[in-house]
Amino acid sequence: MIIGKSKKELEKMRAAGRLVGQVREEVRRMVRPGVTTLELDRAAEKMIRDAGALPTFKGYHGFPYSICASVNEQVVHGFPSNYALREGDIFSLDCGVTLEGFVGDTATTVPVGKVDEDRLKLIKVAEECLERAIRQCWPGKYLGDIGWAVQEYAEANGYSVVRDYVGHGIGRKMHEDPQIPNYGKPGTGIRIKAGYVFAVEPMLNAGTHRTKTLSDGWTVVTLDGRPSAHVEHTIAITEEGPEVLTRVAESAPRTETASV
Ligand code: MG
Ligand code: MG
Repeated sequence: MIIGKSKKELEKMRAAGRLVGQVREEVRRMVRPGVTTLELDRAAEKMIRDAGALPTFKGYHGFPYSICASVNEQVVHGFPSNYALREGDIFSLDCGVTLEGFVGDTATTVPVGKVDEDRLKLIKVAEECLERAIRQCWPGKYLGDIGWAVQEYAEANGYSVVRDYVGHGIGRKMHEDPQIPNYGKPGTGIRIKAGYVFAVEPMLNAGTHRTKTLSDGWTVVTLDGRPSAHVEHTIAITEEGPEVLTRVAESAPRTETASV
């Protein structure tokens, strides 16, 4: 069952979305060669708790951290660790907060130092897929329109979209109905209504769309070891169209990027 949100509930979701967007940008600012993903996790957790919120991921089905830290061929659900980010890595950060009972969920993929053109393009295309998906988030559109927007642009650029993990409705719980695949056919699936709130999260792989889970039981990697990028926003559907709750200004210039 898809739970529509009232104006009052949407107001709370705005606050949760804004906070997790700020956390995302603060962590982005910290990304550089030498920083460990555990340091980023601790900084995110402190920021969340200082704001009077809870890190939604921590304890979720036993997940032990406040962010997911997925590097290079890791698709999603990577554990923060003592791994120090290296020049040329791409680092995907996924974070959720619960504020006054409502959840915001967002992800981005950040280049670490100088990153080769291929990986930069993968990130750029994933970001554009998300923007194209957002433009489908209108009352009267269909879930298949969102999936197709992502799939069409990803595949036109030579990338594959992950099938094993999908976006989702969001509200008092992080994962509500419906599931929102990053693939599909226009005009198919559930019809979108005002009041729905979606977490849309394209996951693009440079090679095969197939994935596997490592022995830690969480970390998802590409089956062929090629890189993957993940981006996500929490989006409210209103009569006036999509309202991206996790969109906040970047707190600092992006990490320096150049071809090598
Ligand atoms: Mg997420
Ligand atoms: Mg999500």
